[in-house]
Amino acid sequence: MAERDWDAEIDRWTERFRDVPNPPEPFARALRDGWDPDARAQLAAEAAAYAERTHGFLSQVAEAGWDLVRFDAKLGSCGVCEKYVGKAYSLRGEHPQLPPPPPLPICPACRHTLNLMTPFFMQSTGMDVDELAAEAQPFEDDWR
Ligand SMILES: [Zn+2]
Repeated sequence: MAERDWDAEIDRWTERFRDVPNPPEPFARALRDGWDPDARAQLAAEAAAYAERTHGFLSQVAEAGWDLVRFDAKLGSCGVCEKYVGKAYSLRGEHPQLPPPPPLPICPACRHTLNLMTPFFMQSTGMDVDELAAEAQPFEDDWR
């Protein structure tokens, strides 16, 4: 897993969230009042821990042979991440018509999840992989 520089990402996302309608906390507060050093350090630590946890979980899922996952919003979604909510991804590349999943967390504040799409779940949605692919949302880091 590539190490992410959370300090640099927090700077970058603070700027990005200036243009986003509903910035998540603690960014919303930081945009109003400036960064509180403790809040910022806590966010960086939580983001790093979350990245490590989700990486461990997804490694296990992939090793167990599962490929189809869905991006879900756990605590609501910010204006950047919401377009990925409900979209399907291919964890191991076994469904080439689907894109690889976004990195988690996408932004330091978000706590989205990637959840297994089991055959039972697929059946309950009434959608097949080609229909999921038709509405797929590849992750793109479209802001600098
Ligand atoms: Zn987000």
